[in-house]
Amino acid sequence: MPMRRVYLDCNATTPVDSEVLAAMLPFFAEAYGNASSIHSVGQEARAAVESARAAVAALVGAKASEIVFTSGGTEADNLAIFGLVAGDRRERKHIIASPIEHHAVLNSVEALEKQGIEVTWLPISSDGVIDPEDVRRALRPETILITVMHANNELGTIQPVAEIGRIASEANVYFHCDAVQSAGKIPVAVNEMKVDFLALSAHKFYGPKGVGALYVRENSPLEPILFGGTHERDRRPGTENVAGIVGIGKAAGLAHARLADEPARLAVLRDRLEDGILASVCDVRVNGDRARRMANTTNFTFAHAEGESLVIALDLQGVQCSTGAACSSGAILTSHVLRAIGLPRDEAKCTLRFSLGRFSTCEDVDYALEVIPGVVERLRAISPTYSKAVSAR
Ligand SMILES: *Cc1c(COP(=O)(O)O)cnc(C)c1O
Repeated sequence: MPMRRVYLDCNATTPVDSEVLAAMLPFFAEAYGNASSIHSVGQEARAAVESARAAVAALVGAKASEIVFTSGGTEADNLAIFGLVAGDRRERKHIIASPIEHHAVLNSVEALEKQGIEVTWLPISSDGVIDPEDVRRALRPETILITVMHANNELGTIQPVAEIGRIASEANVYFHCDAVQSAGKIPVAVNEMKVDFLALSAHKFYGPKGVGALYVRENSPLEPILFGGTHERDRRPGTENVAGIVGIGKAAGLAHARLADEPARLAVLRDRLEDGILASVCDVRVNGDRARRMANTTNFTFAHAEGESLVIALDLQGVQCSTGAACSSGAILTSHVLRAIGLPRDEAKCTLRFSLGRFSTCEDVDYALEVIPGVVERLRAISPTYSKAVSAR
């Protein structure tokens, strides 16, 4: 019998929805036009790009003219941060950033820090949430930008972005929000959040990899970070990835239509998984604020069972999950997110993230629950620290 495959790593990436794929296919075949060409083949591509722009704008409550297509979430974050700093006429030199940002933001801010920009890294609670009052306290006359993500990819925790946006707008400071994990999963509204820039990525909501978007509030200064043609209103040059853009547009429409029901369905499944693990495995803990987080995410520390070994052992049983950030897997680094919330190194190394999605079912969760306790037990049986801890009791 073929092994069951239960994919619980939707925060790393999601499968392309079959409706998204079907919408994209013509743009690899007969509808191959360059959206800048003035003839009919080009204009067909242009129309498809513009209707995708409207769909992405609708998902986040923006105007179509405020959406810039990029090669993904990473480029959208880079464009917001470097593009704003280069475009600010007042040449302000201070950024406020959260320490649990994705590396696309973290490493951009650190690159600017090396170039002489001052950075205030915000404190964060042990359950992974930023206090807006700390943002207010960090403000200086020379602050140009606050960058705080909407939902964290490892913990799923949701930040109080509307409060932070209010503080930013009162202080006339720009606010960038990495909404790559939240867009398409929970409501994202640029006006309620009072953001000036907001990043999203298609492959996190059942669209293709390699296409994303940056929301840029009207009249915000933004210099391009790539140089070439006049595409995307002079903000992002290069012949448009028409098929990919059609994909993000279709994915945005499908996600938008599901926003009302899908989080509740996922919360039931996630809680079933979480409660099942808590009931069947001892010495486990859930990381991150359990109330203020994405319905699809749970993050566990399994004391004395090393995370990478758990991932491999679970994969052999058909269950895919992750140690946290997919980008740091492979490198023997503990997660900067888990360190920021104060997890000791040995606990951070014993951490797994399960993230469910559109195609997750109750049967998937029950299969994972059949497999997980045994895998944890086998790894603990060969862990020298676990036998010591048990015999010390
Ligand atoms: C995945 C992710 C990104 C990067 O997006 P890509 O499209 O993969 O470049 C940025 N921020 C967060 C929070 C993410 O989860």
